[in-house]
Amino acid sequence: MEFSRRQLLQAAAAAPWFVRDARAADVPRFALGVASGPLRPDALVLWTRLTGDGLPAAVSVQWELARDEAFGEIVARGEETARVEESHSVHAEPAAIDPGRWYWYRFSALGQRSATGRTRTAPSAGQRGGALKFAIASCQRWDHGHWAAWRHLAGEAPDLVLFLGDYIYEYPSPPNVLRRHEGGLVLTLDGYRERYAQYKSDPLLQAAHAAAPWLSLWDDHEVANDYAGLDNGPLALNFARQRAAAYRAWWEHMPVPKSWKPAGPDLPIQRRLDWGALARIHAIDTRQWRDPQACRSFGRGGSAVVERAACPALDEPQRSLLGTAQEQWLAGGWDRERPWNLLAQQTLMARLSREPVDGPTRGRYWNDGWDGYPAARQRLLQGAVAGGARNLVVLGGDVHAHYVADLKPDYDDPRSPVVASEFCGTSISSRGPSAAATERDRRLNPHLHFARGDARGYIAFEVDERRLSARLMALADAADPASPISVAARFAVEAGRPGPQPG
Ligand code: FE
Ligand code: CA
Repeated sequence: MEFSRRQLLQAAAAAPWFVRDARAADVPRFALGVASGPLRPDALVLWTRLTGDGLPAAVSVQWELARDEAFGEIVARGEETARVEESHSVHAEPAAIDPGRWYWYRFSALGQRSATGRTRTAPSAGQRGGALKFAIASCQRWDHGHWAAWRHLAGEAPDLVLFLGDYIYEYPSPPNVLRRHEGGLVLTLDGYRERYAQYKSDPLLQAAHAAAPWLSLWDDHEVANDYAGLDNGPLALNFARQRAAAYRAWWEHMPVPKSWKPAGPDLPIQRRLDWGALARIHAIDTRQWRDPQACRSFGRGGSAVVERAACPALDEPQRSLLGTAQEQWLAGGWDRERPWNLLAQQTLMARLSREPVDGPTRGRYWNDGWDGYPAARQRLLQGAVAGGARNLVVLGGDVHAHYVADLKPDYDDPRSPVVASEFCGTSISSRGPSAAATERDRRLNPHLHFARGDARGYIAFEVDERRLSARLMALADAADPASPISVAARFAVEAGRPGPQPG
């Protein structure tokens, strides 16, 4: 039987499954791994994204959740449709499952099966006793290093990973980097999708997702460097549209609820997660609703180091980093019962002056962080005290350095009490300040217990009713995917005594 070229094309058009099936066996469909996120003590979000050429516009994806790694005891299963207009991402939400236990999950589609992920639910609200093992991580710039930190973090098998921002970087890569960003400066939905796909292709990142549930936050680089609200400086063309594309791509690639799919440039991501009777985790967003940075330098984005004496706008009391609605939401939800309030947010909260704070200068500060919004910092900390927050510990990233600090509502007042403890974790791979620079930070700012910017890593925590202990982890060499890691410092917070102590 002879077919003309036209007949062959017609046959292919009428039966695209024929072409697809021919490819299905050799094209990896789960090349970006799997991920999970907490939802409620009895519910989780399971994530994946199908990959490869020739995917139909809509693909049915099956998922399974089991109590054991061998999937002998499956407790929930279901089916989702992965659609091209959502990058073929899947957000499955098993519910009515047991609180406070580990599960394993996997997906299958087009004759292939995904890797298996390990995840867990939070204990139910009243459950006392036990400990929570968690880690904070941030800032994984692809072209600055390999992600050995994720290998070590996965090996710790924490109950929860708090990712505090800069999951991707939007930049093009300069010449002579360790590994290159594909494509140029990211501005469009397809550009963000491709950047997430490149980052998520890394096996060490996939291992960290497969090891534990992640509570995912963003910072600036998921959209654009140092943006503020809907403002990205005078050179940004239609920044609302860009932010909508960036937030949409973030939703497509994170283990967050299906219902969060944004319809425009707004996506509220702030939420609370209660861990039994032990801790309340407050996760907030310091980008989406902030006021513009004070005293920007012309021609730059939002950020600058500014002389406080020359920048009265810095101290304007109404300026907000969270936006009024989120400030009120946070102030209204401090936990008076559980021993710990853990505040997951983006950046260093403690004051960090770049020069001695004396005489008329009152210091030099980076205006993109909390130092650019000192009245908002004071409101937050005073609000925590007024709201009866027990043992507030603030967790941050963004600055590519480890900092451990006492938090005081008013750093100008020597009698201002220590009301909370801060652990700001270094980057997974993004370059940081030199050891000399962070040592100078520590000398100039006596409320800093520790400062170290020359090493990449993360912070691992263990918390029970009496004590929170922290291990500040430092990679030997972020250029080496097999780099060993060591403990740079250990600190602890005793319940009832605000402020970190060595040990
Ligand atoms: Fe960063
Ligand atoms: Ca950042």
